[in-house]
Amino acid sequence: MNGNEFAAWIRRAAELVTADAQRLTALDAAIGDGDHGLNMARGFGAAVAALDALPEDATPGTVLTTAGRAIVSKTGGASGPLYGTALRRAGKALGDVADVDVTGLAGALQAALDGVRELGRAVEGDKTMVDALAPAVAAFEASVADGDALAEAAQAAVDAGEAGMELTVPMEARKGRASYLGPRSIGHLDPGAASTVLVLLALLDVAR
Ligand code: ADP
Ligand code: MG
Ligand code: MG
Repeated sequence: MNGNEFAAWIRRAAELVTADAQRLTALDAAIGDGDHGLNMARGFGAAVAALDALPEDATPGTVLTTAGRAIVSKTGGASGPLYGTALRRAGKALGDVADVDVTGLAGALQAALDGVRELGRAVEGDKTMVDALAPAVAAFEASVADGDALAEAAQAAVDAGEAGMELTVPMEARKGRASYLGPRSIGHLDPGAASTVLVLLALLDVAR
């Protein structure tokens, strides 16, 4: 994937979170403060605006760090810093290469997950975006290790991310606003896990 393809991923993610903003907000209204759709649409919208200002030949690393910085600066809530950090860390992991292969992308996804974990201190089972992202990254890496091409690895990540997202329903939240509800957070899908799946679906869209 070159810089333009990484930019296409972010643009597609912006489309998907904007199209699903009402659903994300409804999920957040059930166990949070009902702004997740707005936060995601605003953050990724800011990322797209920042990408529009980049030169045509920007590297993948520059694309992701630029998008991440825009999300951090323009988005409130817990999710802005978390998504922004994920993209910035992924961009940093890519360095300044012009073309990224599946192994490089696997490393970037792992760096994104590490960034989210360090900043949010959530582990799997806490009912957060980590419950979708961690299995997705593991599945992507396993697929790459099997010799799969990008589209197959991205599909594996989407499948694992969706499964992880579904597993958040019976969980009691231990991080973020939903944790204030304690046991009353049980029985609801985590909004950040749902938006994570959309970002993975956007990668799949550009991969195939
Ligand atoms: P806020 O809760 O500040 O209003 P959002 O509604 O945009 O922010 O995002 C909520 C989502 O952020 C949650 O559904 C969860 O997935 C994620 N989240 C919250 N806290 C953490 C954390 N400490 N680590 C990882 N993800 C978190
Ligand atoms: Mg919220
Ligand atoms: Mg909020």
